[in-house]
Amino acid sequence: MRARPPKNKNWIFSVILFGTLIAMSLMSLMNPQRINDKQFADAPEISISEVTRGYDAGRFSEITIHDNKVFIKTVTGSLIQSYKESRDTVSQLGWNDPKNNTVVQVENREAANMFMAVLPDLLFFMLVIGGLIWLFRGVSRSQSNAMSFGKSKARVADATQVKTRFKNVAGMDEPKEDLVEVVDFLKNPKKYTSIGAKIPKGVLLVGSPGTGKTLLARAVAGEAGVPFFSIAGSEFVEMFVGVGASRVRDLFAKAKRNSPCIIFIDEIDAVGRQRGGAGFGGGHDEREQTLNQILTEMDGFEQGANVIVVAATNRPDVLDKALLRPGRFDRRIFIDKPDLLAREKILEVHTLNKKMGKNINLEAIAQKTVGLTGADLENIMNEAAILAAKRKKKTIGQQDIDDAVEKVALGPEKRSRKLSKKETAITAYHELGHAIVGYECKESDPLHKISIVSRGQALGVTWFLPKEDQFTTSKTKFLDEICGLLGGRAAEELIFNERTTGASNDIERASAIARNMATRYGMGEGELGPVAYGEKQGSSHLGADLGMTRNYSEEKAKQIDSFVKKTVETQYARALGILKKKKAKLEKLTTVLLKTETMTVEEFKEIYTGKKAAKKKA
Ligand code: ADP
Ligand code: MG
Ligand code: ZN
Repeated sequence: MRARPPKNKNWIFSVILFGTLIAMSLMSLMNPQRINDKQFADAPEISISEVTRGYDAGRFSEITIHDNKVFIKTVTGSLIQSYKESRDTVSQLGWNDPKNNTVVQVENREAANMFMAVLPDLLFFMLVIGGLIWLFRGVSRSQSNAMSFGKSKARVADATQVKTRFKNVAGMDEPKEDLVEVVDFLKNPKKYTSIGAKIPKGVLLVGSPGTGKTLLARAVAGEAGVPFFSIAGSEFVEMFVGVGASRVRDLFAKAKRNSPCIIFIDEIDAVGRQRGGAGFGGGHDEREQTLNQILTEMDGFEQGANVIVVAATNRPDVLDKALLRPGRFDRRIFIDKPDLLAREKILEVHTLNKKMGKNINLEAIAQKTVGLTGADLENIMNEAAILAAKRKKKTIGQQDIDDAVEKVALGPEKRSRKLSKKETAITAYHELGHAIVGYECKESDPLHKISIVSRGQALGVTWFLPKEDQFTTSKTKFLDEICGLLGGRAAEELIFNERTTGASNDIERASAIARNMATRYGMGEGELGPVAYGEKQGSSHLGADLGMTRNYSEEKAKQIDSFVKKTVETQYARALGILKKKKAKLEKLTTVLLKTETMTVEEFKEIYTGKKAAKKKA
């Protein structure tokens, strides 16, 4: 539906204004001519009975009554005045003789005064009306905008505009392989249709945020040399009901006109959530309608339409089953976080547009960035460039990248935050407590660096690097992790015999691990057994998990709680035990750390084992 252009409603304004003016002038016209009272100021006064006699005798040409005052003009032109009682009317005074030529008029100043009295109200009223009109015009204008919103907001990138190619997407060999096929469909549809193969309509890219889904979709369009229509799922769902569906219709119509092409729907989970589920807040029907429209459009592609819908999501679990049916998004491509080699390649891609120094070891950087996504790595390279520029360098050096990694991974340093001597000492012991316990627990992630420079919220950090390619976690590892987390608090207690709030985050995390062991991974002991407790609640479309619902008895809850408490306590005792044995080393390391503020794993090992580090620098 198209909206009519908003009419100019200024005319209503003018009508009201004119109306008022006309009314005003009419009233003053209807009013008899006003007597100029001042004219009569010096006029002689006569009694009312004399006026009546004069009237009867026809000596007056004009009698004007105003309130109690009576102004008289004689036929000879002289002026006289008089007073009457309020209750005396013209007829009572007998001044209404039709045969008499005297003009008798009652000046009704009241009316005029009344008009003046209501004038402010009238003005106010006009203002309100005017305001309302203005408002209505605003609404009708925004409505017409809403209508044009119905037109899809999809950004169209022309075939020539998409510069992204597969070579810009580092790593991701398997997803790329899968998509080469899609590119071929777009380029040579006949090859497939001539032997009766159906061209897939939808490809779903599944991966964590920042893993390069959008990039990959663009690369497909770039490789195929076709236009790329992109829209975010959230853009379908706007303020106005019904807009989503009409946007979908419009987007698909546009795409069909430009076929072959790619429609890219980012964050499809925003509209593609399970229908009919427990909704959170409004907009539920709207999403459903939008989703239905997408499905209808996809089903409606005639053979040879040659439009491929690529959608991206990081929540495949919440997607409506109907989306995943054959003939819709039946091709799913999973994009993992990059592994070591892929990270190195991604880093390399993002050095291409930067001035790099000589002998940069990107592999070392890749090793330090386990678990980070392509977007994180891009960010690191950008931070490195900013750091290099700040340091007034011409090219980016290894140190800049190293510092950037730390900044991205741990938050920016806050050297300006000065802690008291005691607080710094506690922090040093705390971090080294983590380091020593972590080092002693064999399953713990390898230690990387220790620092007592404040960063973000943290007063200090002990940086462990997660191991590559670890897809499952053992119970032993969980316990070691808990032990390492409690190492900080244990060191504080051992040295200062005091507990501080500095360990609150460690304790939270340790408890959470223990609770997950019992409720999610079936690692609880005794009565708990290999059973999952609690039911994941459907998450709202706002993307926030609503948490777990309890689906177990009070008794089980108690058992879980006691398991958590026992596990954490046992590991705390273990950490304390380790540190007691290594107290001398803890003291020694602390002395050094207080001086150097940061300590690499090599420096740590050197002091801790008393041996010179033989390993080459990582
Ligand atoms: P997603 O859509 O999965 O959230 P994006 O495609 O928006 O992620 O990626 C964000 C940015 O991260 C990209 O613009 C790109 O610069 C970078 N990036 C992510 N993955 C890669 C990769 N494999 N190769 C090169 N750059 C990447
Ligand atoms: Mg994206
Ligand atoms: Zn800690």
